[in-house]
Amino acid sequence: MQYELTCNQVITLLTFYIENKLDKKLSIGVREHLNSCPKCQDKYLKLKRILENFSEITNKINESEPADINEYKTPQYEKFKANLSAYIDNELSDNENIKIKKIAISNPLARKDLEEVFAFKQLLYSSFNRTKNDLKFDFAKKTMEKLDTNMNKTDKHAFHKLVGIFACIMIFMLIGIINLLNF
Ligand SMILES: [Zn+2]
Repeated sequence: MQYELTCNQVITLLTFYIENKLDKKLSIGVREHLNSCPKCQDKYLKLKRILENFSEITNKINESEPADINEYKTPQYEKFKANLSAYIDNELSDNENIKIKKIAISNPLARKDLEEVFAFKQLLYSSFNRTKNDLKFDFAKKTMEKLDTNMNKTDKHAFHKLVGIFACIMIFMLIGIINLLNF
């Protein structure tokens, strides 16, 4: 079976897809969608390029001297923080989206926030999936148990019927024998 994903779902999953963090089935679902949807394909390529720049810059910053954190607490950063959850939930317009990405690229504090939120979101996502699977398993188990008890009930029923029929036959036979003896 394969996932049929909507554009919105694909867009939400893109970052994870690019970073190879989706499970195989989901990843195939995203790829199939991208192959057939030019709009998402376009967003995918843009985001991929941004993320590539992003990791290049991260590497450069990690190599350079640590700077004073307060230096990055700019009004721009405040704006970034205010829009972060809307950004993560894919609720911003394309323009605002790009602004947020630009801030994330140029501001290490913003980038760190973004990474943390993504990590958190991913955690949520994977635990949601786990719960879903557990529930599925639970449901299967409960169904099996139900079938099992139903089977036992039917078995018992059948057994009682057999005993009843046997008892009837015995009684008729006894009556027959008594009748034979009397005549
Ligand atoms: Zn699409």
